[in-house]
Amino acid sequence: TSATTLSTSFCPASTTPAVIIPGRSPLTLSYAQLYQQTSAFQRTLASIGIAPHSAVSIALPNNLEFIISFLAVAAQRAIAAPLNPNYKQSEFEFYIDDLKSALIIVPAGAVAADAPAVKAARKFGAAVAEVAWDAGKGEVVLVVKEKGSLKGVVPVAKAEEEDVALVLHTSGTTGRPKAVPLTHRNLTRTMSNIKATYQLSPADRTYLVMPLFHVHGLLAGFLAPLLSGGTVIVPPKFSAKEFWHDFITHGATWYTAVPTIHQILLKSPLPNPIPKIRFIRSCSSPLSPTTFHALEAALKAPVLEAYAMTEAAHQMTSNPLPPAARKPGTVGLGQGVDVAILDDNGNEVPQGKEGEISIRGVNVTKGYINNPKANAESFTASGYFRTGDQGRKDEDGYVQITGRIKELINRGGEKISPIEVDNALAAHPSVGEAVSFAMESEMYGQEVGAAIVLKEGKKVTEEELKKFVGEKLSKFKVPVKIWFVDNMPKTATGKIQRRVVAAEMAKKEA
Ligand code: ATP
Ligand code: MG
Repeated sequence: TSATTLSTSFCPASTTPAVIIPGRSPLTLSYAQLYQQTSAFQRTLASIGIAPHSAVSIALPNNLEFIISFLAVAAQRAIAAPLNPNYKQSEFEFYIDDLKSALIIVPAGAVAADAPAVKAARKFGAAVAEVAWDAGKGEVVLVVKEKGSLKGVVPVAKAEEEDVALVLHTSGTTGRPKAVPLTHRNLTRTMSNIKATYQLSPADRTYLVMPLFHVHGLLAGFLAPLLSGGTVIVPPKFSAKEFWHDFITHGATWYTAVPTIHQILLKSPLPNPIPKIRFIRSCSSPLSPTTFHALEAALKAPVLEAYAMTEAAHQMTSNPLPPAARKPGTVGLGQGVDVAILDDNGNEVPQGKEGEISIRGVNVTKGYINNPKANAESFTASGYFRTGDQGRKDEDGYVQITGRIKELINRGGEKISPIEVDNALAAHPSVGEAVSFAMESEMYGQEVGAAIVLKEGKKVTEEELKKFVGEKLSKFKVPVKIWFVDNMPKTATGKIQRRVVAAEMAKKEA
């Protein structure tokens, strides 16, 4: 397909189930029903004064209310700005202010409960509307509770490819979150890239476990499958207990998730027999080769690691489906995206050498909102976007990420990739999770420190671990200190916050 807006990406006449909501009745919505409800919701948005280009924050968990709100806002040429519904008031305030939201959509009952999102909206004069599922009518309904500065009816609009459909902030792993505008064209390109990478078809059923308020869940877990005419199964959130029951009952063929989720599944009871899984996608954080092999062995399916970021409307590279080779420890090949490894001057480095992973493609944002400094630093003269990630290409063009430029450990001029150290630690049979980071050092400026979470019931000493890592890595890469912790701080999408770990361990040291 060559659809360039979200509204033209789905077949409005299809009677195939588009969405299955486990535990709800009615359980499924066909494409025709999805289209009908989205159009009705768009008319409601117009009737309350949501004009083209106004920002609408959506603070909802994964459910039909989210899906219809999102598609309707985009259809109305407005900007959908999903927010983690579990944010604290101060976090809502940051995003509502940064986005200049005209309206925030919250779950039924949020206004009466004075929910954090509602209090934050009031502070900035944003309107508040509650969305609910009317089980009797089998419909999603929107009710305005506080009008903010909305002024009466506007016409029903028609989205165009250069309209911004979605604004999301980066995860804030390395600093203050940056606002990324993505157009219908950016989004639909990623959707068709993902469809092509995994040969998604109407026969596919995706089990969605990632939140819809980030690009991973929204683009790979939801929109790309819809473009392909398949079915998406949408539980309220990831639950290891429900996973296999839902997966098998609703005939899922694949899922996409962060490594943390794969690890939780590996630790949980597996079904017998294992259902036939066409492939498993891993993305958003490094998948250690140890977990890759454990997952393929346990679930008897190819594991395809991909590489993505908000600025690229999610996917940039991925390992390909069999019979092409997948290589653990790499994120595969550019998928509809040009990938170049650049030096500081913007020139491509020789094959095999490290540099900054840089990308170019129709899916990539034109630039951050209100951030001229980041924009000037991020785009090269030849139109490449600098990802901030360090990496290299192997002889077959497969990309290997060696770390984030901001997180590289600089030991007296020797740059050390924290991911390499993490993987060496994670290969020890007693280690569950491992995170390495820069520690201040009088002698070298920085040295390697690490924190680990032990596997349940397992033991190992700091000395044994250092010796184990020292057998694989040069001496200067072996952590000088290893802390044993109970758990790792993570972002909502399950990314380990390396910065936070480093700061916490530094505090313990002081
Ligand atoms: P911020 O830009 O605010 O610091 P962030 O970069 O974590 O936050 P996202 O856009 O959610 O925000 O994440 C993109 C980043 O995630 C990539 O630049 C890369 O560092 C990391 N990433 C994504 N996929 C992988 C992967 N397969 N392996 C390793 N890192 C990955
Ligand atoms: Mg980033």
